[in-house]
Amino acid sequence: MSHLSTYKNDPLVQPAVAEEEAMVDVAIIGGGLAGLALSIQLARLGWSVVLVEKESYPFHKVCGEYISMESWDFLEGLGYPLRNMDLPRIKNLIVSAPNGKMIQHPLPLGGFGISRYKIDSELARLAVENGVQLKQGTTVRDVVYGKNVSTVVCSGVRYQAKLVCGSFGKKSNLDIKWKRPFAEQRPSKLNNWIGVKYHVRTNFLPDTIALHNFENGYCGISRIEEGKYCLCYLTTAANLLKSGHSISRMEEIFLHRNPHLKKIFGSAEFLYRSPLTISQISFQQKSQVERGVLLLGDAAGLITPLCGNGMSMGLHASKLATPLIHQFLQKGITREQLEQAYIQEWTNRFSRRLQAGRLIQRLFGKTWMTDAFIRAAKPFPAFISYLIKQTHGEPF
Ligand SMILES: Cc1cc2nc3c(=O)[nH]c(=O)nc-3n(C[C@H](O)[C@H](O)[C@H](O)COP(=O)(O)OP(=O)(O)OC[C@H]3O[C@@H](n4cnc5c(N)ncnc54)[C@H](O)[C@@H]3O)c2cc1C
Repeated sequence: MSHLSTYKNDPLVQPAVAEEEAMVDVAIIGGGLAGLALSIQLARLGWSVVLVEKESYPFHKVCGEYISMESWDFLEGLGYPLRNMDLPRIKNLIVSAPNGKMIQHPLPLGGFGISRYKIDSELARLAVENGVQLKQGTTVRDVVYGKNVSTVVCSGVRYQAKLVCGSFGKKSNLDIKWKRPFAEQRPSKLNNWIGVKYHVRTNFLPDTIALHNFENGYCGISRIEEGKYCLCYLTTAANLLKSGHSISRMEEIFLHRNPHLKKIFGSAEFLYRSPLTISQISFQQKSQVERGVLLLGDAAGLITPLCGNGMSMGLHASKLATPLIHQFLQKGITREQLEQAYIQEWTNRFSRRLQAGRLIQRLFGKTWMTDAFIRAAKPFPAFISYLIKQTHGEPF
C-alpha cells in the first residue's frame, strides 16, 4: 500500500482546499536549538528532513542566553565556529537574596553567552546548507499518526513522514490540541510561571552570571555578543496579577526590592522598546513520546531556568535521538524499539537533573528561604559546587 493511499483514506486529514504535499523521511516540528540540531545531524546522515517553524528567522526568544560549556564541542561539530566568534566566557556565579545578601562562586564548567536571535538563525542557515528543507513562518496544526507514515498538517501544506519529531518548546498549540496532561492541569506552583526578557547595555562583570532573587522569582543577567547583556527573569503569574497586569509596576513592586536589581533596572540602557514575554510556563513532568511523535527539548521536559542548561539538554537530546532514528530508518530497529530506547536514554540522562532543578527552584521561591539558604550555604563552597553539579551535565 502506498503511503499516499493511507493518508487519502483518512477522513481526518482531508484538506478543505487543495494543498501542497510532500514526502520526507523525517518531519521536525519546531526550530529551536533541539529541532535545528536534530535536523542537521539527520540531513548529514543522508535522510530527507523537513523542519517546520512557526516564526521566521531571525527572531528573539525569552531565554537567559547562557549556554553551558557542555555544548561547546557539540555545536562546533555541527559546523558552528564558536571559537572564531569572540563570545563572552562566563566563569563565575553570583546569587543574591531578595535583601541583597550575595554569594559568589566559580562555575565548575562555566558557559558562554550568545543571543537566541543569533544562534537560532545561524543554525537555521547551517540546516539549509546541509540540505534540510526549512519551512518557516508555518504552524503545524496537527499530526495524524500512521504506523508507516504520519501526516504533519500545516496551513497550506502537509508532509508525510516516516517519523515525526516534536521540538516545539515549552507550550505549543499541539500540547493543548493533544490534551497533554501538563497542559490540562490547574494552575499550581509548578505550572504558572511567566518569563520576561530584555537586552541591555550596562557595566556588569563580563565573565559572571548573576541570579538575583525577589519574592516569587529570580532575574538573571549575563553578557552576550557585541557587549550587550541579557536581562531575563522568571516569576509567577500571581505576581503579575498583584501588579494589575503591568510589567513595569511588577518590576517596581517586586524586583526593585532587591538592591542589585534596583541598580541594574535604574542604570541600564534598554535596547527593546518593550520586553519580550511568555506565560504559562510549566515545569511539570512530560512524556517523551506522544501520539507516535518523538519529543525533545522543552517539549519533553523543561528544567528550571536557574539551572541555566535547558538549551544544552535540548541539544544533547538531539544527539541521543539521532543514532536511534538512523537505525530505525535503516530498518535496524522497530518503531517500538526506537521509542523505548529513546525514553530510556532520555530518562537516564536528564530525569535526575530535572528533579534537582525543581527542588532548587522551591528553595528560591520564598524570600525567607532564599535568605536562609544564602546565609547557610556561604561558608560551604563544596556544597554550592555539589548543587551546581546536580543540575549540569558533562560535555557530550
Ligand atoms: C525565563 C527563561 C530563561 C531561560 N534561560 C536559559 C539559559 O540561560 N540557558 C539555558 O540553557 N536555558 C535557558 N532556558 C531554557 C531554554 O530556553 C530552553 O530549554 C530551550 O529554549 C529549549 O529549546 P527547544 O528547542 O526545546 O525549544 P524552543 O527554543 O522554545 O523552540 C521551540 C520552537 O518551536 C516553535 N513552535 C512551537 N509550536 C509550533 C508549531 N505548532 N509549529 C511550528 N513551530 C512551532 C516555536 O516557535 C519555537 O521556535 C530558559 C527558559 C526560560 C523560560
